Amino acid sequence: MAEQNSASGVSRRDFIKTCVTVSAMLGLPFGMVTRIAEAAQKDDNRPAVIWLHFQECTGCSESLLRSTHPTISSLILDLVSLDYHETLMAGSGHQAEKSLHDSMLANKGKYILVVEGAIPTKENGIFCKVSGKTALESLQKAADGALAIIAIGTCASYGGIQSVGPNPTGAVGVKDIVKDKPIINIPGCPPNPYNFLSTVLYYVTFKKLPELDPLGRPKFAYGRKIHEHCERRPHFDAGRFAKAYGDPTHAEGYCLYKLGCKGPATYANCSVQRFNDVGVWPVSVGHPCIGCTEPDILFKTAIADKVQIHEPTPFDSYAPVDLKEKGKGPDPLTTGVIGLAAGAAIGAGAMLARKLPDSPDKEEETHEKDQ
Ligand code: SF4
Repeated sequence: MAEQNSASGVSRRDFIKTCVTVSAMLGLPFGMVTRIAEAAQKDDNRPAVIWLHFQECTGCSESLLRSTHPTISSLILDLVSLDYHETLMAGSGHQAEKSLHDSMLANKGKYILVVEGAIPTKENGIFCKVSGKTALESLQKAADGALAIIAIGTCASYGGIQSVGPNPTGAVGVKDIVKDKPIINIPGCPPNPYNFLSTVLYYVTFKKLPELDPLGRPKFAYGRKIHEHCERRPHFDAGRFAKAYGDPTHAEGYCLYKLGCKGPATYANCSVQRFNDVGVWPVSVGHPCIGCTEPDILFKTAIADKVQIHEPTPFDSYAPVDLKEKGKGPDPLTTGVIGLAAGAAIGAGAMLARKLPDSPDKEEETHEKDQ
């Protein structure tokens, strides 16, 4: 194995570390690391990739390109033959269009189509055009010859922010248009670059697509809720919740559920496979999860709104954190409930006492007072 991984410039150590990470993400035994590494290095194993951009902000490509230690983008670009990518390719105009056309022709039935962004459908899709063709036309044509499609990001997966009501352009995700090709959704705003890399490496190694969940997401990355591995989970279980941004409960790192964290309803691996190569993700830096991998949460539920938790969780049985906090008394809600219960009990006792006959002792006491 070369010291440097071919043209990517990634050191062998970083390359092997990445293969170990990907193997662990995919839930494969340690022995598979070698097989993944070998598959990744075969020059004749590189699938042709055509990457189309539609209604989007290019954040998905950016999150891929800005990663370092090792350069995930380098590995991905070395792993695939990226024949067309409007943001990255050097060519433009007719030259770029020719490259797209030639690649589709030469790799018909074999290339992977990556779509970034939603597709507008109203008025024949006139709201997004590249090279005189609507996104709708470009997608249908490129999808025809594709082996499989990867919808990267929430916009390509479900329509994203463009599809939020009143959805003036009729924006939809890829799966609403293409019905006859395997489609893998890798949602997220942006998605973790490792989820994309692992999907491609899985395909390159095993020549098949990873197992998907009902929303078309790879189960290895979207099989569990982020809440299950969140570092703030002990606070959730103990009933310790941040109440306001910047207050002591927030500074202490308490659970962000009451600030609107959507973690209990969001399937993704952000709490495990973090971002920016420095091990952070929104919840770790104090911002609630916004549920960006879920079609019914992102942009459809206000950031401050709480999601319903359908599964019973331990925190319900704990007293609110305020009871023990820095000498403060019980919160008004708790006091009210306890007060109501105590009041009802006292009232019931008084009513009962009225109905009972006086005890002999009491009769005696009364008699003594009268004397
Ligand atoms: S509600 Fe959010 S912050 Fe709290 S434990 Fe779950 S994922 Fe973490």
